[in-house]
Amino acid sequence: MALLEETKKFLCVSCPVGCSLSVTVRGTDVLNVEGNTCPRGVTYAENEVANPVRTFTSTVRVNGASLPVCPVRSKEPLPLVKVFSVTREVAKVKVDAPLSIGQVLIENVCGTGTDIIASRSLGKI
Ligand code: SF4
Repeated sequence: MALLEETKKFLCVSCPVGCSLSVTVRGTDVLNVEGNTCPRGVTYAENEVANPVRTFTSTVRVNGASLPVCPVRSKEPLPLVKVFSVTREVAKVKVDAPLSIGQVLIENVCGTGTDIIASRSLGKI
């Protein structure tokens, strides 16, 4: 069965300008990109179609700190399709204070190849 052409809309977030992209695709092939004001918009659109990724942010529960939770993020952007399973995995975690900014709290989360790290330091009380 032949794949149909369709038009998808994206907001390029590669810089603060935030161009609205209109992207013609067939399957995962990008046929045309309009609305970009620089070539990075085309690259962004191609990545969004083929393998969208996001920097994951959340919180984890902490024992023995002045705050009950610590903000965390993925060290690298991870596949968008993995965000739900990563959210569930992070929700299970409870760590002990003290924490240092950048400390790895979950290695290779859900097999994504990236780690979940602390976004701030938290001292022990
Ligand atoms: S297309 Fe270029 S100018 Fe527009 S948001 Fe993306 S990077 Fe910025």
